[in-house]
Amino acid sequence: MHYLKFKREQTGKCNICGKIEKLTWDHVPPKGGQAFNDIEQESIFQYLAGSNGERRYQFSQNGVKYRTICSNCNNALLGAKADPVLNELAADVMLMIKTRLTLPQATIHVKTKPALICKSLLGHMLSATGDFGMSKIDDRYREYVLDEAMIIPKGIKVFYWIYPYMSLKVIRDIAMPRYRGEWSDFSRGGVGMFSILKYPPVGYLATDLNEYEGLHELTQYCGSSLDDEAEIPFRLDVIQPEYWPEAGEDNFVMGGEGLGNGVSARPRSKRK
Ligand SMILES: [Zn+2]
Repeated sequence: MHYLKFKREQTGKCNICGKIEKLTWDHVPPKGGQAFNDIEQESIFQYLAGSNGERRYQFSQNGVKYRTICSNCNNALLGAKADPVLNELAADVMLMIKTRLTLPQATIHVKTKPALICKSLLGHMLSATGDFGMSKIDDRYREYVLDEAMIIPKGIKVFYWIYPYMSLKVIRDIAMPRYRGEWSDFSRGGVGMFSILKYPPVGYLATDLNEYEGLHELTQYCGSSLDDEAEIPFRLDVIQPEYWPEAGEDNFVMGGEGLGNGVSARPRSKRK
């Protein structure tokens, strides 16, 4: 049985800046961006293993949160500027979907500040590793989140898609084949490393691959300054299943250390 570790000692090494500081609670997704707060959550291990045997859940009335980053990283770095943009994008996309009956086109465009979205996403992915992440991927994420002058992450691309489901998935550092399909497809392209954050209405993944499954790439819209705006496209004609991309018969997943604190959460069912 794997136990979730959301809470570290009150003082420790901040998952983002690496300083020994008082650790603060970081909400994933950021406060104000959650579609539901009263949740039941299970580890990504348990979720990926499927429903065999008894499943254990932990409950929370204020969403998924990790005590892993210092107040400066939590409030100044992410909370002040980047998180509100991420939350606003979620709200804008939600509104567009709700009014889509009046929008016959298959693609909608939503104005946002892509670089700030990337900062927020990669910052919270760092937070969601539980312990201070030692992997090369964590190093790359940290370099990007901490350097205000770095507008586009190095060696990482962020992709996104419409996720119209009432659930939250936080998945760090999994390897998946570049091409979905059968073994012949898997061996054709090798594997990429992925971190995934999905909650309604948008799913995001960060990967070292240059493209994935025809998804729109967010990092290409980052521009040349943090505040650069872009109208980013969302396809409404291709809706992937809730479990995509981590599950499905046309795929396999290998997990690294970061997987341990990944979470699958959904609104708490009334029976429990
Ligand atoms: Zn910090």
